[in-house]
Amino acid sequence: MPGRIQNKAALITGAGSGIGLESSLLFAQEGANVLLVDINLGAAEKTLALVKERFPNVKAAAIKADVGKEADIKAAVDKAVELFGRLDIMFNNAGIMHPEDDNALNTEERIWDLTMQINVKGVWWGCKYAILAMRNNPTDEARGLHTGGSIINTASFVALMGAATPQLAYTASKGAVLSMTRELAMVHAREGIRVNSICPGPLKTPLLMDFLNTEEKRNRRLVHLPMGRFGEAVEVAKGALFLASDDSSYMTGTDFKVDGGLTSCYVTPL
Ligand code: NAD
Repeated sequence: MPGRIQNKAALITGAGSGIGLESSLLFAQEGANVLLVDINLGAAEKTLALVKERFPNVKAAAIKADVGKEADIKAAVDKAVELFGRLDIMFNNAGIMHPEDDNALNTEERIWDLTMQINVKGVWWGCKYAILAMRNNPTDEARGLHTGGSIINTASFVALMGAATPQLAYTASKGAVLSMTRELAMVHAREGIRVNSICPGPLKTPLLMDFLNTEEKRNRRLVHLPMGRFGEAVEVAKGALFLASDDSSYMTGTDFKVDGGLTSCYVTPL
C-alpha cells in the first residue's frame, strides 16, 4: 500500500522535538522523503536516527538552521531540492514561547522582537522559499507528483481566543501567522500551492510543559479543556499529515484546529 504522501518531498522545521518530531516520523511512515530542520542539530539528528531505523526506505537528512535567519531558511530549502529534486510539503512549525513574555506592561522589546523574528519572519521566509521551489516542481504522473505543493504554518489556539495568563508577543505572533497564511493562500491559489494554518490546542510538549511547571499552573488550564487533558504532539502531526496530503486538496487558507474542542467551548463538562 503506498503511503498518503508517497514519494513527496517534505521539509519540517522544529523537527527535533514535539510536533516536529512526531510529524517527521508520520510523514516518513506515509512515504515522504524528509529534511529535518532545527536550530538544535543534535535534536534533529536524534529524530533522523528514529526515522532511519523505522523507515529505511525513505530518504532522510537533518540540517541545522535558525528559522529566524533568512539565509538559513533559503539554505534549508535549497538542500531539500538538492537532495530530493523538488519540494512538495513545507511545514513551518518551529516556534518559541519565551519565559519572559508577559503582558503589555512587562514584556521587554527584545523579547517581543525575538518572538516576532522566529514566529513571524521565520514563517514568512519559510513560505517565500517554499513557494519559489514549488513553482519549479516537475510533474511526474507515474509517481503521483505534481507542480505546486502544500505549505502548513503552525499557529496556535491563542490566536483565536484571549487568555488572562498573557504572553503578549507569542499571541500576537500567532495571530500574524493566521492572517499571513490566509493572504498567501489567496495569492498562490491558482499556482496549485495550498497554504493552511494548523492551530494546536495546549499540548504535552516541552514548549508548554516547561512553562506550566507546577500542578497549580497546569490545573489553571485543565479546567478549561473540554476533554479534560492536554493534547499529544502526535495528534497535531496527524492533522498536519492531512493538510500535507492530497486528502485536503480542496482546502486552502484555513485555520485548522486540533484543539480538543477548546475554541468551541463555553462551559466544560463536570
Ligand atoms: P517544542 O519546544 O517541543 O519543539 C520546538 C522545536 O523547534 C525544538 O526542537 C526547537 O529546537 C526548535 N526551534 C526553536 N527555535 C528554532 C529556530 N529559531 N529555528 C529552528 N528551530 C527552532 O515545541 P512544540 O510544542 O512542538 O511546538 C511546535 C510549534 O507548535 C510551535 O510553533 C509552537 O508555537 C506551536 N504550538 C505549540 C503548542 C503547545 O502547547 N505545545 C500549542 C500551540 C502551538
